[in-house]
Amino acid sequence: MTNKEYEYMNEKTIDEHLICSYCNKPFIDPESTTCSHTFCRQCIRSKINNGTSVCPESGCSKPFSVEDLTPEGPSFRKLLDRLLVKCNRCQQTNIQRSTFDDHINHHCPKATVQCSAADLKCSWTGPADQLKQHKIACVYEQNRPMLLGLHTEIENMKNLCNELQIQNDHLRTENQRLNQRCDRYEIQINERCDGFETQIDNLNKMIRRMIFTLRGKGNIILARLIGESSSPTVHMKRQHLSFEL
Ligand SMILES: [Zn+2]
Ligand SMILES: [Zn+2]
Ligand SMILES: [Zn+2]
Ligand SMILES: [Zn+2]
Repeated sequence: MTNKEYEYMNEKTIDEHLICSYCNKPFIDPESTTCSHTFCRQCIRSKINNGTSVCPESGCSKPFSVEDLTPEGPSFRKLLDRLLVKCNRCQQTNIQRSTFDDHINHHCPKATVQCSAADLKCSWTGPADQLKQHKIACVYEQNRPMLLGLHTEIENMKNLCNELQIQNDHLRTENQRLNQRCDRYEIQINERCDGFETQIDNLNKMIRRMIFTLRGKGNIILARLIGESSSPTVHMKRQHLSFEL
């Protein structure tokens, strides 16, 4: 399996027992088949289709399934770990293959790194040996205290917004509930108003009947009084008792 990040030191002198016959490179994460042929894990598994395949070793072609693959033991792996490589980025030589990831992640001056202010959204990436120079000019790093303050404020505002949203939802639900109650009350009030109107109509009719009766009785009393006396006193009474209902 080829790794483009490094190349092997003196590759031609590497023991052929450490070379994968499928990719012609030293094994990476080697696994062997039941026919005792060894390949890189990725090389041999790339051959498998629907869980089975045949051994790619020339002249072998024995069938095997994915369950037949066995990882090579630690002593064999140690031989591979000790192989020396050259970093293709910084050209450093004689790096043990097993420590190459550590070299790229922590030591290679040409490895691509992020700005230390990436947490403040600085989007700069570049070779590790240029980071120091970038940081001198990085506005994010220079304004770190202010940006952190703003970040905290934004977080607080977000929390407040969430709380207000919850309250708003609650009030909307309460409003709907009250509107439904209002609708019910309105229906009840309208029903009662209808009843009152009927009662008022009946009372008006009753009052008109009473007025009619009283007016009739008043006229009878008046006529009787006129008939009983023609004295000036009674005449005055007559004037006073004239019903105008
Ligand atoms: Zn291979
Ligand atoms: Zn084989
Ligand atoms: Zn390097
Ligand atoms: Zn930066």
